[in-house]
Amino acid sequence: MSFQLKGMKAVVTGGSSGIGLATVELLVAEGAYVAWCGRHEERLDASKALILERYPNAQVFTQTCNVLDKSDVEHFAQQVEAHFGGIDILINNAGQGRVSNFDNTEDQAWLDEVELKYFSVLNPIKACLPALKRSTCASITNVNSLLALQPEPHMIATSAARAALLNLTHSLAHEFTQYQIRVNSILLGMVESEQWRRRFAARSDQTQSWETWIGKIAQERGIPMARLGKPEEPARALVFLASPLASYTTGSTLDVSGGFNKHL
Ligand code: NDP
Repeated sequence: MSFQLKGMKAVVTGGSSGIGLATVELLVAEGAYVAWCGRHEERLDASKALILERYPNAQVFTQTCNVLDKSDVEHFAQQVEAHFGGIDILINNAGQGRVSNFDNTEDQAWLDEVELKYFSVLNPIKACLPALKRSTCASITNVNSLLALQPEPHMIATSAARAALLNLTHSLAHEFTQYQIRVNSILLGMVESEQWRRRFAARSDQTQSWETWIGKIAQERGIPMARLGKPEEPARALVFLASPLASYTTGSTLDVSGGFNKHL
């Protein structure tokens, strides 16, 4: 069964690595026109080159853009419309987590985290909304974390901000039914990505290999499936929710955590 995405126009924020890049690749493989952004030109160009090497006929567009900069995002959305003639799918993926507990989270860090989790979603939604309203098959899918429902003390600010994003996603799902725009999210556990590569680079025992290091994390954290996820695993969940296959699904969350989810 195909995702029925041929010719649909998709935007993925933070598409230059990790989950975002895996999502871009799957959308391209399914025949969608795909635009993506990131802050760093070099990484963005490298991701575009990789996609075009694997899919030489892909219809793609990239532009550097910080999702927290409203005018940057508006310009990006305008350029996507100019290139593709519309937007059907918005996947809000750009961002990162903050590892800190109550004692070492300064006021500014709380504000930064709230800004990132709110506006990395609000800015692209506002900028893409006019185009999404014109689409006959529109969807918005937010990348969120299981932390929204299952907070962790060592990621206290991220957990609280993730809960707010889940709440916001639910409100928007209801609000946007009037425009026939579906709004859903995925709740991630731990997934191998550049974020984890950065933490690996800063590991205390520099003799540990990547496999040993992530294996140990999975074991210590008690992930039932005994491993971290691969970026293509959340990508498949994102693409399903964004696709016409999920045409009667809005306001829902899909758990992608290898069984780490302990709530009912
Ligand atoms: P990566 O670091 O591999 O990818 C993050 C992507 O977002 C990059 O393309 C990065 O490019 C881009 N990005 C980051 N900040 C901005 C910004 N302000 N504006 C535009 N682009 C931005 O990480 P992941 O794949 O892990 O992260 C994807 C999403 O999944 C994030 O929202 C993250 O918080 C979430 N998540 C991931 C988990 C995991 O275990 N991997 C767990 C829970 C949630 P650049 O740096 O060039 O801007």
